[in-house]
Amino acid sequence: MKNIAILGSTGSIGVQTLEIAREHANDIKIRALVAHSNIGLLEKQIREFMPALVCVYDEDKAKLLRDNIKDLPVRVETGMDGIIACATDDSTDTVVAALVGMIGILPTIEAIKAGKNIALANKETLVTAGHIIMPLCKERNVALLPVDSEHSAIFQSLNGESKKNVHKILLTASGGPFRGFKKSSLEAVRAEDALKHPNWRMGPKITIDSATMINKALEVMEAVWLFNLPIEQIEVLVHPQSIIHSMVEYVDGSVIAQLGLPDMRLPIQYALFYPDRKNMKLGERVDFIRIGQLTFEEPDMDTFYGLGLGIKAGKLGGSMPTVFNAANELAVAKYLQGKIGFMDIPRLIEDAMDNHRLIENPSLNEILKTEQTTYDFIEEIIKSSK
Ligand code: NDP
Ligand code: MG
Repeated sequence: MKNIAILGSTGSIGVQTLEIAREHANDIKIRALVAHSNIGLLEKQIREFMPALVCVYDEDKAKLLRDNIKDLPVRVETGMDGIIACATDDSTDTVVAALVGMIGILPTIEAIKAGKNIALANKETLVTAGHIIMPLCKERNVALLPVDSEHSAIFQSLNGESKKNVHKILLTASGGPFRGFKKSSLEAVRAEDALKHPNWRMGPKITIDSATMINKALEVMEAVWLFNLPIEQIEVLVHPQSIIHSMVEYVDGSVIAQLGLPDMRLPIQYALFYPDRKNMKLGERVDFIRIGQLTFEEPDMDTFYGLGLGIKAGKLGGSMPTVFNAANELAVAKYLQGKIGFMDIPRLIEDAMDNHRLIENPSLNEILKTEQTTYDFIEEIIKSSK
């Protein structure tokens, strides 16, 4: 029996994790759920899965929820303390880290300190604090299993192999909704178009990250930490069909890949039951005849120059990935609010990176402080450009 806390249960990954839990009700017990403010959906989840503990980050919404579920024996916590309470509760052994953004750092670290295994979707946490999280996992002897489909594919392709024989990782990317576009035609694209991903249904932030290809930059950095490989050994390859979820090329030229339909329930389930594989009744299976062909392209680093900025941030290391990530988080939020244009996202990131004085090996406090100074810097640029 797996006893699970889901941080971000009302989001895209959270909802799909609960679909897996519903399918495997004899093997998975939901002990704690965390959301930001969507108490309507959270209440439905509580009534179905009956966790003893939940957290609603927004205090007013937490009060409302307490009122709405008075009939149930459920403790409702709030704020960061509440998220951490859910991430560290004695009743759980596994935490599904599916919050979006850097808000996930603290709860993930606290969960690891409490000895919980982590199924990690929240890549921003590893991008900014990988140098703290990876050694901590080792020290506390906890497993950190990737949920991100590419990293799950790499993890599966590395199974039983020796890392010293890895030549490179081929990290696949769909190319997003604007594959084939040029810079000039991207200036005016609206959020509603950027939110139409060709292959995946995901939360809004990662969908915009896929449209800018900044998601792939975050994934390169995520792979560096998860697989302890130099960034130079990770190559991004555009594969529009999203059937090959990534590959590992070995020194003898052999390439091992993991394939499947673009359905996050597969990597989520794999992370929850690793090293076991469970039957997957949900969704469809790959039908190669119907798919017909798998194609590959080089990424367009000129148009999607946020990808190159991310790789640069990853090479510089220290606090630079935090600047890259925080600048992107705020720029994406502003873009979704219609306050800046699509190509302003990489522009603002570049400005923030140029303005930053690098801190080597930043502490958690320095990471959080860098996040804040990056937000302040971007707010200031946006204000002064009006
Ligand atoms: P969503 O936006 O769909 O969901 C985010 C979840 O986090 C929601 O439950 C939201 O609550 C909750 N949340 C956000 N902020 C807070 C907060 N301050 N306190 C408490 N809860 C909060 O995101 P996704 O599920 O798409 O993505 C989650 C993570 O997984 C991201 O890091 C993403 O990069 C990664 N990922 C996602 C994939 C996907 O297919 N969606 C694929 C691979 C990785 P509420 O609903 O109340 O706002
Ligand atoms: Mg991914």
